[in-house]
Amino acid sequence: MAAVKRFGGLTQVELAAATGLSAATVSTIVKELAAAGVLETTTTSRSGRRALRVTIARQAGLVAGVHIGPRGLTVALGDLAHEVVADQSLPLPVDHRADTTLDRVALLVVDLFEKVGASLDELQAVGVALAAPVDAATGIVAVRGALPGWEDTAVGPVLEKRLGKPVHLDTDATLGAFAEHLLGAGRPVRDLLYVRLSYATSAGLVLGGRLHRGGTGTAGQLGHVRVDPTGPLCPCGNRGCLDTEVGEAALLEHVRPALGDVTLRDVIRRARTGDPGCARVLTDAARRTGEVVAGLVTVLDPQLVVVGGELAHADAGAVEALRESVRRNSLPHRFATADVVAGSLGTRAELLGALELARAQTDVAEGVTG
Ligand SMILES: [Zn+2]
Repeated sequence: MAAVKRFGGLTQVELAAATGLSAATVSTIVKELAAAGVLETTTTSRSGRRALRVTIARQAGLVAGVHIGPRGLTVALGDLAHEVVADQSLPLPVDHRADTTLDRVALLVVDLFEKVGASLDELQAVGVALAAPVDAATGIVAVRGALPGWEDTAVGPVLEKRLGKPVHLDTDATLGAFAEHLLGAGRPVRDLLYVRLSYATSAGLVLGGRLHRGGTGTAGQLGHVRVDPTGPLCPCGNRGCLDTEVGEAALLEHVRPALGDVTLRDVIRRARTGDPGCARVLTDAARRTGEVVAGLVTVLDPQLVVVGGELAHADAGAVEALRESVRRNSLPHRFATADVVAGSLGTRAELLGALELARAQTDVAEGVTG
């Protein structure tokens, strides 16, 4: 199953090579799993010879999920049984434009359908997680400067035109919260605060078991909470937002004296492989973010704070620092305190949330998307 998932679709011969199992064993396993409805087989030809191509069974079509960030993009196909069938990531240049990036998204979706041997007709819906606050009424980025190059694009309609399928869009932190609540660390609770530590800082909220998007769809803009009235200007136009201290530009400023001009991707990679300086920068950012999260914990009283995003998953110390900071700065409760844990879906939470958003439009959803 892992091999079929990894490669999308394989012939039995290729499957034997990929797994190291004998052809007879592969044939037996495929027969059993096909009978159980888990795998599907179709006859194809390879180098002029008939071959049996093995793919994951799809009962009722596929959905696509897309996560678009300031420096990268991931596209995945999922079936309606919450399985990711195939996925692919691409780095994006600084200040990439919406139209060319959405062209690449559409091409990647078509490529992935080819890779799994499915027809685009099977695509039911597309969910997009955008690393910017999205206005619910217009589907357009609601805050100037939040994702340069994307401010005047109605992502949904543009992508719908490219793919000919319904496209649903939301802020990535909101969809991260959605995924962690449905599939991850937030499953046991009804009141959940998801904190996303990434190129920008943001949050997603699940209140009373439902996603909370706010009056205009932009709830959770943690990075734009003011922490210093005399601080530097933020791209949003305000002064002293949290992200002027812990956002991408601020973090790179911190490492510049020691490392020179590096990217945040470099810093994350170094932190993950044990570079103490880079880990320290992430830990300090998490601690500072925790001071703002503590205010939210005091006001909202969530049962659980789930921490996600590349920075949190690069170094365990970041989540620990945020936990400590929340505990120290939120209202001391005599009997219970909200636990702060790392997300269990890793850096894929937002992508999985985008897939779930698309799925929620296609099947009898429990109404959790609100
Ligand atoms: Zn701001």
